[in-house]
Amino acid sequence: MATENPGTNCLLRDGDGNDYTDLKVYQKAGGYAKLKERLTMSRDDLREEVVKANLRGRGGAGFPAGVKWGFLPKDTDKPVYLVINADEGEPGTFKDRYFLQKDPHRLLEGCILSSYAIRSNACYIYTRGEFYDEIQTIDKAIADLYEAGLLGKNILGTGYDLDIYQHPGAGAYICGEETALLESLEGKAGQPRMKPPFPAIVGLFGCPTIVNNVETIAAVPVILDMGGDNFAALGTERNGGTKLFGISGHVKKPGLYELPMGFNMKKFIYEVAGGTLDDRPLKAVIPGGSSCPMLTPDEIDIAMDFDSLKTVGSMLGTGGAIVICEPTSMIDVILRISRFYSHESCGQCTPCREGTGWLYRLIKGFKDGTARPGDIDTLYNAAEHIDGHTICALGPAAAWPVQSVVRKFRHEFEAAIQNGGLAETA
Ligand code: SF4
Repeated sequence: MATENPGTNCLLRDGDGNDYTDLKVYQKAGGYAKLKERLTMSRDDLREEVVKANLRGRGGAGFPAGVKWGFLPKDTDKPVYLVINADEGEPGTFKDRYFLQKDPHRLLEGCILSSYAIRSNACYIYTRGEFYDEIQTIDKAIADLYEAGLLGKNILGTGYDLDIYQHPGAGAYICGEETALLESLEGKAGQPRMKPPFPAIVGLFGCPTIVNNVETIAAVPVILDMGGDNFAALGTERNGGTKLFGISGHVKKPGLYELPMGFNMKKFIYEVAGGTLDDRPLKAVIPGGSSCPMLTPDEIDIAMDFDSLKTVGSMLGTGGAIVICEPTSMIDVILRISRFYSHESCGQCTPCREGTGWLYRLIKGFKDGTARPGDIDTLYNAAEHIDGHTICALGPAAAWPVQSVVRKFRHEFEAAIQNGGLAETA
């Protein structure tokens, strides 16, 4: 799988021959060089650089990280926590894994700087349970930092104390939702909380907490090295910097690429990723993880950023694109996706618990040949009744792709009814 940087080299440096899991190698490349200086600068100035960078949260929601940090109460006597969401589980997404696996100190330096900026003395990294090797890598990197005096009490004589703890999850997709993650971190079942209150006010152990994605925090040292304005200028007006975009499915060069925010999706597929597999006709693109509504080939001449994709009724999400070519059945695609969300529902809300299973069974009827003519509308309406009626975003995440497939590929559902099910496809 390719990991390339056809644009500006800020975040992705895989393949340059260096083993950045080694603290000394990371330091030789400039890592932690200005840590002491930065841990004595004003916290507001540090946050201001991140605000200027227009770093929109890379976990999928796209909320500006520096602004989010500003939501913490100023005069609290409670501890403040930084929690890193490393529970990367969205199908089609494999960008955070790069940092955890190959450049853990980028993340950890970001954790130290960000914790300092928000006045936190404890940072938790909640890592997806299936990332066995990455968990070892992060644990070793943390141990190396303590040994080097870059973590713990009085870091580099600055008077600043910080402990970083890694907590492996148990493999539930829903624990990538920030409040379910906090519940799990507290030792409870990973089920989302009602919001408000938001974690910045009542988060981990009832204390003010910032939850940020791995890629977001790994970008912080880069931003401080190059300056917030310079980082912002790499992207578009409302979407600062570069980002790691993944691409998988029917393309010649699937992999992870660093591109400026706002990079054209068509160019990404046909130039950066080498075009479709065997030059097959493109059928659909899921732009940023399986929960994003699908795009048809006439919709892909678009900038990949949080705002542009909204204009075609989809989302940037995690930036992990999945390319689907002819002759794939869209019923097969959405069946697989629906099964996933039905399996991962935490069961707290009825529309999600019952609805996601219902969507799956209805779609399976089209594949198996048991669907009736009214089932296409029933499927669409069932999805519509999940959206907006649940505690967290998993319900809508299950509903949106179904709605988009029914809207854009209705003829496939009609044909499945007419033909008594699906013929086997590639
Ligand atoms: Fe759980 Fe689904 Fe409700 Fe989210 S929407 S809280 S996953 S039942």
